Amino acid sequence: MKDDCIFCRIANGEIPAKTLYEDDKFRVILDQGPATKGHALIIPKEHYADLYELPEELAGEVMKLAKRMVIRMTEKLGCKGFNLVQNNGDLAGQTVFHFHMHMIPRYQADGQKIGWKPQEAAPEELEQTRAQIVD
Ligand code: AMP
Ligand code: ZN
Repeated sequence: MKDDCIFCRIANGEIPAKTLYEDDKFRVILDQGPATKGHALIIPKEHYADLYELPEELAGEVMKLAKRMVIRMTEKLGCKGFNLVQNNGDLAGQTVFHFHMHMIPRYQADGQKIGWKPQEAAPEELEQTRAQIVD
């Protein structure tokens, strides 16, 4: 645990938060600045800055927990869809440098837009990128 890390302190119960779920490895809380009603964060209790640091096994558990939470929140909140968002690095919009997964319920006309602007990519460029990653 990092003393100067807000999510370490929340996950370990030192700072209060609106907890939706807790076990020995994770705490799930409501985001204090929600994109929509029910916007929640999965926070591991151990400190890992981002996905690069998160152990593979824990990464798998995050997704299993996300699935369970999404099903429950959909039943309880009556939302019509969900976005899972997970930012790594300040360039990618990360502001709290303790790994977390956003779960954002979506409602008809909720006024939110989570996405990107698709760019043109020629087949040769896609092939060059594929080769760069795979080879
Ligand atoms: P990110 O930009 O992916 O690092 O997301 C950080 C998120 O943490 C933001 O959506 C904030 O609203 C949220 N957040 C920051 N501090 C708190 C807090 N004390 N309690 C609940 N959510 C928080
Ligand atoms: Zn931390």
